[in-house]
Amino acid sequence: MSETITNWAGNITYAAKELHRPHSLDAVRALVAASARVRVLGSGHSFNEIAEPGPEGVLLSIADLPPVIDVDTAARTVRVSGGVRYAELARTVHAHGLALPNMASLPHISVAGSVATGTHGSGVGNGPLSSAVREVELVTADGSPLTLGRDDPRFGGAVTSLGALGVVTALTLDLVPSFDVEQYVFTELPLAGLDSAAFEAVMSAAYSVSLFTDWREPGFRQVWVKRSADQPFGDFPWAAPAGQKMHPVPGMPAVNCTEQSGVPGPWHERLPHFRAEFTPSSGEELQSEYLLPREYALDALHAVDGIRDTVAGVLQICEVRTVAADEQWLSPSYGRDTVALHFTWIADTAAVLPVVRGLEEALAPFDARPHWGKVFATPAEVLRGRYPRLGDFRKLALELDPGAKFANAFVRAVLAD
Ligand SMILES: Cc1cc2nc3c(=O)[nH]c(=O)nc-3n(C[C@H](O)[C@H](O)[C@H](O)COP(=O)(O)OP(=O)(O)OC[C@H]3O[C@@H](n4cnc5c(N)ncnc54)[C@H](O)[C@@H]3O)c2cc1C
Repeated sequence: MSETITNWAGNITYAAKELHRPHSLDAVRALVAASARVRVLGSGHSFNEIAEPGPEGVLLSIADLPPVIDVDTAARTVRVSGGVRYAELARTVHAHGLALPNMASLPHISVAGSVATGTHGSGVGNGPLSSAVREVELVTADGSPLTLGRDDPRFGGAVTSLGALGVVTALTLDLVPSFDVEQYVFTELPLAGLDSAAFEAVMSAAYSVSLFTDWREPGFRQVWVKRSADQPFGDFPWAAPAGQKMHPVPGMPAVNCTEQSGVPGPWHERLPHFRAEFTPSSGEELQSEYLLPREYALDALHAVDGIRDTVAGVLQICEVRTVAADEQWLSPSYGRDTVALHFTWIADTAAVLPVVRGLEEALAPFDARPHWGKVFATPAEVLRGRYPRLGDFRKLALELDPGAKFANAFVRAVLAD
């Protein structure tokens, strides 16, 4: 049966004419063993061709496998099928009195797809979502299963793998005791008054902090502060409390967003910005994001301010977050405490791409690593220079997938020698 398969944003139509949805692990293994080229599609929330299998390739979804969410309350871990989305995972984990350490801005995304691209939330003490993963279960190129845990020297490549090592059928994640979060929104934080020390203080003021700007002015329209009820929280002197509930994207309704105004609630209903039952973000958009060492944050923000008019012309909203350093070789926050500059663009590739190129030029001095799942124009050879452990990942991909069954054009460009 021929179908048109697109990503969530609709800017990518996959060349594959069929999405294979096996109902059993055995069927996944048989399909992989019998196919020359395979890519897995998660929930399709990436904005580029990272999941594209090419015209001859098989596009595979594991969303129809029987979902597994096995919580071990004594060990504080959960084993979850790769195709499960964070919304469902979070509800189940919370029902057991446990929590994930952090979440992305939306809970609609699949676990395997999210950690494959280095998806993250915010918080100076919070690594990307992949940091919680302690074990990955794969179906490798010949259809055989392989489990890689933290004690395996190959684990550094196993989680943020761009889908290049095999089909991730299940993951085991570390959990923490469930906690409540209060979310506050503040408005109007000028860039002019912000030096490095103040930036650090703002971003460290709570468990998770995000700054939002439309770059029409040199400053931040909104500051979202997610305070863990267990942590001390003093005044927030840098901006004024919002008098009403807000959506970060101008013109969008606040009802789509998680509860604000300091009303305490469970971690999974506060850490994401957007509610699971509503369209996240604006729904008509492209996104880009650049992750750079946190010590460059202020210089990088001023560099963006220098091209503010160009950026603002195609921008819906820009979000600034922090991510703690992690150890996945291909993680954009590998080995460095990070500031992440995110851009939600209008849904017009032709208009957005030249601005993305200009932005990358402005951010080039800061060793910016683009988010693997978003729109970027950084040439593959430049990108390769920004990942010190890329050679180790290349070796691992060769070992597990010698025929490059799971490599597509995107992955081949990144891994080229
Ligand atoms: C509205 C919106 C908000 C977003 N907010 C954030 C945010 O807050 N933080 C952030 O960092 N990112 C964010 N993103 C980006 C998003 O988290 C990433 O693109 C993420 O990869 C999406 O997960 P997915 O399941 O949709 O993956 P897909 O886009 O379907 O796939 C991504 C990659 O994972 C691979 N993959 C998927 N499943 C498997 C599997 N089972 N086995 C092997 N490989 C697999 C695919 O082959 C592909 O290479 C946002 C995206 C949208 C649309």
